[in-house]
Amino acid sequence: MKMRESGPTRRQVLRGLAGALGATAVACGAGGSDEGAPDGGSDGGGGPDGGARVDGGADAGAPARPRVGIIGGGAAGVFTAWLLDGAYDVVLFESRDAIGGNVRTIELDVRGQAVPVDVGAQYFGPGPYPTYVALLELLGLSGPGSVATHEAPATITIGWDGEETPRFVSPSVPGREWPLRESWNAGGVGTFAQLSLHGRRFDEADGDWQIPLEEWLAGLPLSVDQRERIALPWFAAVYSGDIEQARGYSARSALIYLSRSLQGGAFDEVTYRTLVPGMGEVLRRLVEASAMLTVHTGAAVERVEREGERLRVVAGGRTETVDALVVAAPPREAASVLAGVPGAEAAIAALDAVEFHVAELTLHRDPIYAAPDPRHWSFFNSAARGQYSETSMQLGVMLAPAPDGQPIDLWKSWTTHRDRQPAEVLHEARFHHMLPTPASLRAQALLRAQQGAGHLWFAGSYTLPFEAQETALLSAIHVAEGLAPASANLAALKARLG
Ligand SMILES: Cc1cc2nc3c(=O)[nH]c(=O)nc-3n(C[C@H](O)[C@H](O)[C@H](O)COP(=O)(O)OP(=O)(O)OC[C@H]3O[C@@H](n4cnc5c(N)ncnc54)[C@H](O)[C@@H]3O)c2cc1C
Repeated sequence: MKMRESGPTRRQVLRGLAGALGATAVACGAGGSDEGAPDGGSDGGGGPDGGARVDGGADAGAPARPRVGIIGGGAAGVFTAWLLDGAYDVVLFESRDAIGGNVRTIELDVRGQAVPVDVGAQYFGPGPYPTYVALLELLGLSGPGSVATHEAPATITIGWDGEETPRFVSPSVPGREWPLRESWNAGGVGTFAQLSLHGRRFDEADGDWQIPLEEWLAGLPLSVDQRERIALPWFAAVYSGDIEQARGYSARSALIYLSRSLQGGAFDEVTYRTLVPGMGEVLRRLVEASAMLTVHTGAAVERVEREGERLRVVAGGRTETVDALVVAAPPREAASVLAGVPGAEAAIAALDAVEFHVAELTLHRDPIYAAPDPRHWSFFNSAARGQYSETSMQLGVMLAPAPDGQPIDLWKSWTTHRDRQPAEVLHEARFHHMLPTPASLRAQALLRAQQGAGHLWFAGSYTLPFEAQETALLSAIHVAEGLAPASANLAALKARLG
């Protein structure tokens, strides 16, 4: 199906989410002044991979601007820094040697050519990502004339280890109609027709986020086999890889990519997008455009202390005192650095209640986890075994061709629970994913109620019901609406949303 930008306008999406977030605007200490953002000039120093960047914004003799600290240089921390630029001097601490967090663009050697590949976060599309796409347009990385975005059909194959024939191969109309004609595929086609229809209705009707997936699936006209052998293994492969865990996901969270990507019929083509220079390019450009930002990489924050109305951030030998602090580190790390801060107890309890799981990823050339017959391969290939079902993505069909014009022979597989490891491994990485359970979502609501209290703010995709660049950006917008409502960058982004 075609992914169209129909349905709610981008501004409605933003307003809807602002409502869900609740209105919590707490002014920053030291006046919380908002002077509007500059044109986005850069001091040209440092950058994401360049270690510490020297503050180039403050004019000698100008009145001191209030100071905001940000802990964590993943997408949410960098989005927040850019949105606050012009209103504050911003100092960002990132524990790793480079910014990015789950956005990790590496260069792979493909037939002697360097090709940027995203090891972690990689895909987006206008349906579930309207705000992120607006940001890309502002940066010239998407929209008319941009060659930075590549788009391809997001096809799906679902199978079980040891079975010759998959349980489902998705049709994609026009172009891939044959799966609709195969009798062995009828159960899978019926399953996805039901998931698509009811998933979209559930989201449009603002369904209850607390309903567990197993309960929601039980209300659909699906056989036990369709639920247990097709639907649940697919949901597991999209998130933790554990079918038992998938039963307890929030149904609305688990369905969100499906329900928001579908704009036409159940089997009209759905496309995903990737960035040719990689997602790291977005963060690099935002840092470059933030004139009053200082980034410290390799600077793990150890603790935060109160100093009267202000907050003191301690990272290695460095101490910075700030008027407000945005914590954009994952919840466990956030809770740990805030442990000694009086008044942060409720926020810490909420942070501790957000559920996470470990994910191991491998980039490789071996099609080890794909269906036995290559005609059944898709972009997204899941193979279940016992309690586990993980995905193996055929990146060659999703990435732009290499500079020599030939497709890229590459697989990206989740390998946390596999009993076999691939040959021809090019890269391995370990991440943490938020588990979209009703318990995580309740904790998010409790955390949102603490936003701004004692000049402490929280940003991160884990603060919202699904984990994506979209939610990392929406979380940053929420913080900026509280700290710098007149920010020029915030205004420019909202104007682009239309
Ligand atoms: C494997 C994987 C694939 C994904 N794929 C996609 C995708 O295709 N599309 C998509 O939109 N989203 C995807 N996501 C979701 C992605 O995580 C979010 O989109 C987003 O990048 C999260 O950003 P964040 O800033 O909230 O958190 P993080 O990226 O986790 O950033 C937090 C940062 O805080 C830093 N930090 C931690 N402790 C400290 C400390 N004490 N002091 C200083 N710094 C600290 C960390 O080093 C890290 O850089 C994927 C996630 C994973 C794990």
